[in-house]
Amino acid sequence: MKTFLLLSTLTALFMASAPVASAADPKPYPLKTCVVSDDELGTMGKPYEFTHDGQQIKLCCKSCLKKFKADPAKYLSKIKGS
Ligand SMILES: [Zn+2]
Repeated sequence: MKTFLLLSTLTALFMASAPVASAADPKPYPLKTCVVSDDELGTMGKPYEFTHDGQQIKLCCKSCLKKFKADPAKYLSKIKGS
């Protein structure tokens, strides 16, 4: 899982360097891939962006939104890299 390691490293770097965001600002999406499908963003057209609980989310396409909504906690934990 080389990609996962890389993403974890990037997330860790991001967490270390980013100032604590205020509640009003959504946390920027830390991944370069769709959190649902793991496809690289932009390869399927314009990424679908939205904010969930103050966390910006980007998906490769709108059909991934359905899967995200079905189990947001699972995908959020993926973003947080825990
Ligand atoms: Zn998708």
